[in-house]
Amino acid sequence: MVANWKMNKTRDDALAFIYAINESLPSSDKVETVICAPSILLRDLVKRQGDNLRIGAQNMYFEDFGAFTGEVSPVMLQTTGVEYVIVGHSERRSLFGETDDMVNRKVKAALNHNLKPILCVGETLEQRELGITSSVIRKQLELALDGVEIKDVTNVIIAYEPIWAIGTGKTASAKDAEEECKNIRIAIKELYNAYTADETKVLYGGSMKPSNAKELLAMPNIDGGLVGGASLDPNSFLELVKDCL
Ligand code: PEP
Repeated sequence: MVANWKMNKTRDDALAFIYAINESLPSSDKVETVICAPSILLRDLVKRQGDNLRIGAQNMYFEDFGAFTGEVSPVMLQTTGVEYVIVGHSERRSLFGETDDMVNRKVKAALNHNLKPILCVGETLEQRELGITSSVIRKQLELALDGVEIKDVTNVIIAYEPIWAIGTGKTASAKDAEEECKNIRIAIKELYNAYTADETKVLYGGSMKPSNAKELLAMPNIDGGLVGGASLDPNSFLELVKDCL
């Protein structure tokens, strides 16, 4: 279960959140719990993450160093002790001009630095209404994974996030979310092999909350969630983590 705090929480708020949940988190061999926080908070959170929580970043650039004002590199993320990084979130794509090529470079750069990319793919409402959801996602996946070797691909976590469901309160039905997550697994099987497809984690994201999580998480091809709004409150996030048990 992955929290995406987006651009929320001061240092004090973030630490209070960690202290509120740390003792109650289920063991990490049962559920992998991850909080993806703003870069400036990562080091402080890693220090206090405890045994059952892992910290992730929300973005990074694909170069190691250089004249890229304002960017954070995979080398820098690695030194904070984070294990995960969200790549290609739809807000990065739509608000900050991230292209499929940049997403692909970021996925590869993350893997090269032993960070697990949480790769986001998803369709717009218009694409869904045109009936091209599966082909849009397939294309995003192929472009994002271009050049990723089979030995690395199970370290990529794929998040199916229909754009029209993110932060809108609208959730994909469990049936529709399952269908796309299943298609993602089929794509991994065709691009790599059946074993790799089975081992790859596929998450659903888009207004997941305690009232709808159980039904989504019960689907055979949905391994977990990537959660924005409902991850900001410690009780609601804890409930979501426990819904994975
Ligand atoms: C997200 O930011 O990835 C997300 C799914 O947000 P929300 O849960 O608020 O829709």
